[in-house]
Amino acid sequence: MKFEIPSGARHILQTLSDAGYEAYLVGGCVRDLLRRVDPHDWDICTSARPEDTESCFAGHRIIETGLKHGTITVLEDGEPYEITTYRTEGPYSDSRRPDFVNFVSDLEADLARRDFTMNAIAIGLDGSLRDPFGGETDIKAGLIRCVGEPAQRFREDGLRVMRALRFGAVFGYKLEEETAQAIHKNRHMLEHVAAERINVELCKLLVGSKVGDILRQYPDVLCEFWPELKPLVTLKQNNPWHCWGGWEHTIHAVEATPADLTLRLTMLLHDIGKPSCKSTDENGVDHFYGHPAISAKLSDQMLRTLKFDNKTRERVVTLVEYHDIQIPCRDRSIRKWLGRLGPETFFQLLEVKRADGMGQAYELVKDRLAQLEKIKAKAEEIVAQGQCFSLKDLAVNGRDVIAAGIAPGPEVGRVLNGLLEQVLNGLVPNNREALLSLIADEQPNQSN
Ligand code: ATP
Ligand code: MG
Repeated sequence: MKFEIPSGARHILQTLSDAGYEAYLVGGCVRDLLRRVDPHDWDICTSARPEDTESCFAGHRIIETGLKHGTITVLEDGEPYEITTYRTEGPYSDSRRPDFVNFVSDLEADLARRDFTMNAIAIGLDGSLRDPFGGETDIKAGLIRCVGEPAQRFREDGLRVMRALRFGAVFGYKLEEETAQAIHKNRHMLEHVAAERINVELCKLLVGSKVGDILRQYPDVLCEFWPELKPLVTLKQNNPWHCWGGWEHTIHAVEATPADLTLRLTMLLHDIGKPSCKSTDENGVDHFYGHPAISAKLSDQMLRTLKFDNKTRERVVTLVEYHDIQIPCRDRSIRKWLGRLGPETFFQLLEVKRADGMGQAYELVKDRLAQLEKIKAKAEEIVAQGQCFSLKDLAVNGRDVIAAGIAPGPEVGRVLNGLLEQVLNGLVPNNREALLSLIADEQPNQSN
């Protein structure tokens, strides 16, 4: 097979080889070449020791950040290339990086330390494959299989549990049977893995096109770092709106959103508070009164545990909190919500509500879904027309209020909010003269 390899990578392989060392492309880029997908970076492994690699690239810009683990980064044509000496790894006791690495002279020993067969293939400059674990066959079959004995590999580094699920969700590959069983059995190894590492894999998993299949098959893995999910996974909902239990509904809702991390996280967590709010009425129908607020609180806690950035966490918590609100299909209600949430969050909320509906009994919610489309069209029009929906859009500001004789302080805000309320309700146009005359009416005693 002919592979397209960038000239920078070729040059590096050639330089090392001219100096008498072995050098191969390895890992994700080789896997992606075989999958016929453009690699996003090009990792190189070599028999050269780090100091020898450095002398080979003496005239280049070199970054030494990974030196302790045998990696140096060389800039070629402005692109960074990581060059790593063949190595084996010690244990991951700090759960971030191996405690130590041993440099070795044999490519196969280096490939053997890698996680999955598809990630343990090397390609030489001449295009020849070194594939001792049958990675190419597994790629063709769409299978994720551990290199070596699965249980042992997951015990060495629990993060591999999440990496397997991530590749499953992103590539739509199946997990080979023994690998899958070892994941269920060794999922508790995630306990020793740094939250930041889990976070990275979870984010990639959630935006994968087959996220639903993975959530369906491996809820037990997610419950390792988010035990709050457990009651949702087993939640039954005897309610005419719902044709599925809590977990299956959640999965359908996740699948119904575009591949956007904020939306997918929101759908994963939106009903997390339901189990603790469940009540059953005299007809045997289940209700979950007040669950959005509880879901929001739990989501906040869960996103903190996994060290999500503030912006993502706050946005998800807001969307979870409001996921169940009723938005009447009227301009003034839409303007109010646009103003309260801001347009970006508002449009995300419409996506959330649509996805939530897609996870319910379709016949019963299809009118609601059609209504959401109308709200979206109206909101787009309101925004496109530059209509006023927040204080900053108002044709007057605090200075105008003070100039009209109202003392600086909280009263100014009260007056402005009162004006905004009237504009939102369509009682007065967002027009400077009209608003100034209303301000004058506010304070008849002070006007002169
Ligand atoms: P991506 O396309 O997301 O970059 P990748 O497979 O290249 O996927 P990296 O984290 O860049 O993932 O790792 C590069 C290579 O290092 C992998 O292909 C694999 O061979 C090896 N590797 C990475 N993480 C582990 C791990 N936790 N255990 C064993 N091998 C690993
Ligand atoms: Mg990579």
